Amino acid sequence: MTAAMRLTVVGCAGSFPGPDSPASCYLLQAPHEGRTYSLLIDLGNGALGYLQRHTDLEAVDSVALSHLHVDHCIDLCSFYVFRKYHPAGPMAPIPVYGPAETAARLASAYDLPLAPGMSEEFDFRPWKPTQQVGPFEITAVRVDHPVEAYALRVSAGSRTFVYSGDTGPTDLLVEVARDADVFLCEASFVESGDNPPNVHLTGAQAGDHATRAGVGRLLLTHLPAWTDRSEVEADTKTTFDGSFEVVQPGATYDI
Ligand SMILES: [Zn+2]
Ligand SMILES: [Zn+2]
Repeated sequence: MTAAMRLTVVGCAGSFPGPDSPASCYLLQAPHEGRTYSLLIDLGNGALGYLQRHTDLEAVDSVALSHLHVDHCIDLCSFYVFRKYHPAGPMAPIPVYGPAETAARLASAYDLPLAPGMSEEFDFRPWKPTQQVGPFEITAVRVDHPVEAYALRVSAGSRTFVYSGDTGPTDLLVEVARDADVFLCEASFVESGDNPPNVHLTGAQAGDHATRAGVGRLLLTHLPAWTDRSEVEADTKTTFDGSFEVVQPGATYDI
């Protein structure tokens, strides 16, 4: 791997799995201590299956959750089963970064007692403003969504990748995306829709945030299956002059 990081889109369907994609899941890899380190960013419904097209599940080193809506985290329940009941024996816990309630919410989702919950399979770590995760320095910034939700700024070497998570328009997103080499931004809504505030972005709003942040490349994600991709692209062109594309499952980007 010659780039600082490689991003693989495992799933990019917004809000629920679509016919061609699981919900949100991104694999971010970088060289670390003589091998490739694998960080999963979000693990939405359906993603654990598609993930096996791109990596052995045993090779996942850590998980980062933007927030606890099911389309971003619920396949951690399935990953728990894989780690706990694997025929080769239980696997040592790996770090899972996320909102403060992550351990309790996932235990509840699987109908487990809160202790131990999934703590023997995952080492739950609430987001701090910054943390070192293998080769990645990750800054987590609260954004504008109905639940505790974070945008993530991930740096390795001199390169920077930023993921919006789910968010409505906010200047905080511009700050966290400042000068990013690649900005993976949600574009769930269309300008022609009757969109509630403080939930999601349109392509035009994603493009506006990306323009103000001065990002190098814009990648759009989290389009629900009912949304016309060409409308999102047309919306985005009204506010963003640079290179952008709507991501597809299986796409890889060297950053
Ligand atoms: Zn979502
Ligand atoms: Zn959400």
